[in-house]
Amino acid sequence: MDFNFSEEDEAFRREFRSWLETNLPRDWRDDSELEADTKTEFERRRAWHRTLYDAGWMCINWPKEYGGRGATLIQQFIYSQELDRAKAPPTVNFQGIARVGPTLMQWGTPEQKKRYIPRIPSAEEIWCQGLSEPNHGSDLAAVETRAEDHGDHFVVNGSKVWTSNAHHADFSTLLCRTDPTLPKHRGLSYLLVDMRSPGVTVRPLVQITGEHGFNQVFFEDVEVPRSNLVGQKNQGWMVAMTNMMFERTIHGGRSEMMVEVRQLANLAKKVNRAGRPASEDKYVQQKLASFACEAEALKYTSMRQLTRQLRGLPPGPEGSILKLGTTDLNLRIQSFAMELLGPYSQLEYQAAGAIDRGKWSHRMLAARRGTIAAGTNEIQHNIIGERVLGLPKG
Ligand SMILES: Cc1cc2nc3c(=O)[nH]c(=O)nc-3n(C[C@H](O)[C@H](O)[C@H](O)COP(=O)(O)OP(=O)(O)OC[C@H]3O[C@@H](n4cnc5c(N)ncnc54)[C@H](O)[C@@H]3O)c2cc1C
Repeated sequence: MDFNFSEEDEAFRREFRSWLETNLPRDWRDDSELEADTKTEFERRRAWHRTLYDAGWMCINWPKEYGGRGATLIQQFIYSQELDRAKAPPTVNFQGIARVGPTLMQWGTPEQKKRYIPRIPSAEEIWCQGLSEPNHGSDLAAVETRAEDHGDHFVVNGSKVWTSNAHHADFSTLLCRTDPTLPKHRGLSYLLVDMRSPGVTVRPLVQITGEHGFNQVFFEDVEVPRSNLVGQKNQGWMVAMTNMMFERTIHGGRSEMMVEVRQLANLAKKVNRAGRPASEDKYVQQKLASFACEAEALKYTSMRQLTRQLRGLPPGPEGSILKLGTTDLNLRIQSFAMELLGPYSQLEYQAAGAIDRGKWSHRMLAARRGTIAAGTNEIQHNIIGERVLGLPKG
């Protein structure tokens, strides 16, 4: 296999890398794990998002008619690599860009496309997605939130949970039950809900890091116009599956785990082990080497995924393998950072005297969320076991 990129793609990389060098403030790098939990932080990130957007560096793979630049899959891959490499802060409308926009492009009516899609890349309207419920996360098709058909509108009652960004969002997608008499996958519909509708209540859920990134959202007699139904009534599962496909592809797409390994290697130079720099210790060297090998293997797995896409093949097992591999490796890297830091690992983010501003303890706590979000790692194990290895269902 030839792993080199064409001269045109390398020129694209240089252009974006140099744009990031010039435009990404130095002290914003390395905060990519932090949640934008306050209004101030959210607006700071929205401003960064707008800087990318105004320069034509947002939704680059979207068709030009929707505000993208029609970038190729390879350019999209390079773009993600460069953002990871620069440790740029996340953009603010992730759900809208990665999931809602592409889902609407596929399923939306001409009116829905015209009304909603153009305001996503600019972050003029922020989206969240209402899939998981208190009793139904992995078993998503069992959702209980009801939407009663009243002709020109639906009336929604129920609750969604772990809804990222609901406290900043203007709109939410909503997977809900429109016919409880049908088998569970067949009685669902997919709605677009204005978060300012009467009857919508957003309550914060605070994570182990102390940050507020997601919420529980309650719907009490919320009226949703029929024009906000995406796809056919009772066929929302198909729309939700399109949404999930984009979710897994994106989550699997983290391409630069080596950045984490390099930062860990730098940490090993700063801390001591048995009176010498930890980086000189054989055990530490072996650990770093094995993390580096895994990071490299994941990079090539993401290239295999890219090759599949370039050949026009449907998403393969690589998405699940990448999601599982990156989040699991990340967890082990952060645990090893705790081991290297010893008692210093107990100092919280930005605590006085903390090594590297205490970012490692924050990352350790935050690493768990990746193993749960977008389908837990146990579920990814099931998918790989059943669909790749052909093992019988347990
Ligand atoms: C950071 C973060 C952001 C999120 N953002 C959103 C969001 O914006 N919108 C949204 O709708 N949801 C969101 N989620 C929710 C996420 O999709 C769910 O948490 C996830 O799908 C798991 O569902 P659950 O929490 O109900 O756990 P459950 O499904 O109750 O699972 C509990 C445990 O049982 C295991 N388990 C369940 N079924 C099986 C099985 N068949 N085989 C083996 N093990 C199993 C799971 O792996 C898990 O360990 C977010 C979650 C996180 C952590």
